[in-house]
Amino acid sequence: MNAETLNNADDLELQKFGDLAHKWWDINSEFKPLHEINPLRLNWIDGLVPLKGKRVLDVGCGGGILSESMYFKGATVTGIDLGEKALKVAKLHQLESGAKVDYQYIAVEQLASLQPASFDVVTCMEMLEHVPDPASIVAACAALVKPNGTVFFSTINRNAKSYLYAVIGAEYVLNMLPNGTHDYAKFIKPSELARMIRTSGLDVQATAGMTYNPITKIYALSDEVSVNYMVQAVKNA
Ligand code: SAH
Repeated sequence: MNAETLNNADDLELQKFGDLAHKWWDINSEFKPLHEINPLRLNWIDGLVPLKGKRVLDVGCGGGILSESMYFKGATVTGIDLGEKALKVAKLHQLESGAKVDYQYIAVEQLASLQPASFDVVTCMEMLEHVPDPASIVAACAALVKPNGTVFFSTINRNAKSYLYAVIGAEYVLNMLPNGTHDYAKFIKPSELARMIRTSGLDVQATAGMTYNPITKIYALSDEVSVNYMVQAVKNA
């Protein structure tokens, strides 16, 4: 892959995930939050766009938590990431689980130039807050989805509460995540994500929050988007 396509990746971010890669499928590890939110986001997505029979691309798929679950809902899934170790773990895990996901090491911008308008659904979850230029990722996702197709994004809002919950709470108080997992400055407000979405020729269709209750330690879907949130965006035909 040439330097240009790798431009929109932060080496330190990729290394952070690489160092933890062997733990992707350990539900008591640093990836516990992803395992806990997975049924919520999977069912939200599947409720809006039934995945059975759909051609789906999972951008920044990591070890394949969401990719595999979408496969088991009946989708044909391609997963891409720039973390080589995560992809290795994803490929190994499907030998065990029986999922058949096509994992590829390729930048989303490059895949967009090779296979535009090829997917019914594109998901890009918990990744935009780890890249230098999220708008470029959003535009590439928009290019990859077919007309009338749907892109799902999730990320972390940027405000005092999200700083408290996603950085101080999750990293320092609850020790759920290693210190430095999240860089507050890279969090994205829903209005900022909506602008990137519209600029890319998509329309925002729905938004949902995922709230964490630190007392019960349970995540739930809600209308409250102040920390973790998801957006459904549809491509204009
Ligand atoms: N989407 C998965 C994993 C989220 S963790 C899930 O929600 O379960 C963030 C992932 O983004 C990591 O696997 C990391 O390697 C990947 N990533 C970070 N920067 C990237 C980039 N520029 N291109 C592709 N993947 C990237």
